Amino acid sequence: MRIFFVLLWCYLAASASVAREPESDKVSPPAVFLITIDTLRADHVHCYGYDRIRTPALDLLAEQGIRFTQAFTPSPVTNSSHTSIMTGLLPSSHGVSDFGVPLATKYPTLAELLKKGGYRTAAFIGAVILDSKSLAPGLDRGFEYYDNFPEIVTTKSRWGRLERRGMEVEQRAESWLNAHPAGAHFVWVHLYDPHDPYEPPPPYSEVYKDRPYDGEIAYADSALGHFLAYLKKQGWYEGALIVVVGDHGEGLGEHHEDTHGIFLYDSTTHVPLIVKLPEERDAGRAVGAQVRTTDIMPTILGLLGVAVPASLDGDSLEPFFTGLEAAPRTVFGETEYPLQFGWAPLRSIRKEGFKFIEAPKPELYDLHADPGESLNHYEPWDGTVQSLRRALAELSTKSRTSGKTLPAAVSANTIDELHALGYLGSADARSATDVPQPSLLPDPKDKIGEQNLLHTAMMASEDGEPDKARVALEKVLQLDESSTIALRQLGRIEMASGNYVKAAGYLRRARDTHPNDATVAIEYGRALEASGDLSGARDALLASLKLNPDQFEVRLQLGRVYLGLNDSNAAEDQFAAAVLLQPGSSEAQINLAKALIQQKKFAEAVGLLEAVAEPSSRNPEIFELLAQVYTSLGRRQDAQRSQLRAQSLQNSKRPQ
Ligand SMILES: [Zn+2]
Repeated sequence: MRIFFVLLWCYLAASASVAREPESDKVSPPAVFLITIDTLRADHVHCYGYDRIRTPALDLLAEQGIRFTQAFTPSPVTNSSHTSIMTGLLPSSHGVSDFGVPLATKYPTLAELLKKGGYRTAAFIGAVILDSKSLAPGLDRGFEYYDNFPEIVTTKSRWGRLERRGMEVEQRAESWLNAHPAGAHFVWVHLYDPHDPYEPPPPYSEVYKDRPYDGEIAYADSALGHFLAYLKKQGWYEGALIVVVGDHGEGLGEHHEDTHGIFLYDSTTHVPLIVKLPEERDAGRAVGAQVRTTDIMPTILGLLGVAVPASLDGDSLEPFFTGLEAAPRTVFGETEYPLQFGWAPLRSIRKEGFKFIEAPKPELYDLHADPGESLNHYEPWDGTVQSLRRALAELSTKSRTSGKTLPAAVSANTIDELHALGYLGSADARSATDVPQPSLLPDPKDKIGEQNLLHTAMMASEDGEPDKARVALEKVLQLDESSTIALRQLGRIEMASGNYVKAAGYLRRARDTHPNDATVAIEYGRALEASGDLSGARDALLASLKLNPDQFEVRLQLGRVYLGLNDSNAAEDQFAAAVLLQPGSSEAQINLAKALIQQKKFAEAVGLLEAVAEPSSRNPEIFELLAQVYTSLGRRQDAQRSQLRAQSLQNSKRPQ
């Protein structure tokens, strides 16, 4: 069979490089469909032994394909996990350990390699968390079409802005396939539905009234069913290679974790993995050996006869298809998400029936006797601990040498999107993450209660329930009165509610506990400014600039505060510094002009404004200021002309 694919492949590659044959004459290699279902625990799928749910589409695929009963993701975080699926690399190898971290071009992706081989490639995502323009840069590499979210969204609803229902994702994939029917396809479909908040649409909301997480899974399965039915209708199903996998599981309260991302227990790392081969080869086989989602990429490439990149962390699963190899594979787990909260990151290894978790308080579980990982047998002198710990240490030496990608600057909008999805972004706990030895940070096991409350608060804020968020955040403060994250979230809620004095109170506490956090100082300064305490705002913003002088927004804000304090000389300095930081910013130049006008430095102001007032300029304020300056300089005609221009721009801005 494999040789057959290789021959097909050679044929396709040859015909593609010579001349374009008529489509009907071309023999295509098998279509490849990768379906990732977000937040899908293996033990909540019917064909994985859960009889309280109906998942007919997954069951059918398992009947016609190969079901891996012991498959594990290396990461409980969506971006890292998907990047591992696409690259065959562990997060510590590919470097995408956080939202917004770009995937370095040196790591080839599955889509890239298939596209090079002549495949038509497209990706359909169910959540903005995988948007390649903001939170998952580089994940679109190799896809000729990547179905990102619109950049400007007017709706406040989560749907269309943060998430798409599975059925919509599936239909968008169908539309693309309808428009591009020819050639061999590699299409990735991401169904986000089982991710919290659990709000399945009817009838799943009714059937699974008391178990909405299961309802979302059943709904996602129905979207998968629609997609499979479409493939059958097109005559593509039988010959296709179809892989369905969960990106990670869900805590559901086990180990006190409500959702996912913090811990590396099986509840969030054990995922379903089903591979349906072309012509239903080896249908109905169940493989009980331990495997990994990093094995998916080399498996697909191997089946198609495409060269697999050197030094992957995963290996092709082909030997399991015929039942020849039964040797289980070592599973590594990694999460840096605790760092967002200022807690220690975790590493784990799952091997020969044991799991060892490296943490400030390390853990060892005997998975045969204790599959729920509830009895910690860790002893530093234990032989199993020592050998597993050694294997983890070897891995981290290897990943240190492979080099780490630095997070890209994530915009404020993107941070808001992350919060709306229930996650913190790297900007939230920057000072806490900047530590030489993460093992000195608190153990996430001691902090998980706080994380659940913070998650609840973020989701409540997103749903427009500030009171519910306040209650959760006050509870966090009862657990840890210096929690910067809780204090900042409370500050933001009060700012948004117009309670500026209250906001300043929370943010002052955050500032006092983290005097070296430039971002906290800014937020404190903003709250003081809004509450009318301009000299307080000035001091806070100056303190922030002392920590980091290159903050453009802070320079602008401090300049405005100085203008409010009638200190136009000091304002000029700040705006001039802002212009130096971003010479192309008309906002900085306009503000600098205002400071100059206040000091009656009209000649300087006029030069500056004339430079900004290009024919294409749409900002009436520039021309109003120009008119003002021309008047002061006695240039009446110029003043009149500018005034007219300002007026016409104002008029064109008004709604018709
Ligand atoms: Zn996910």
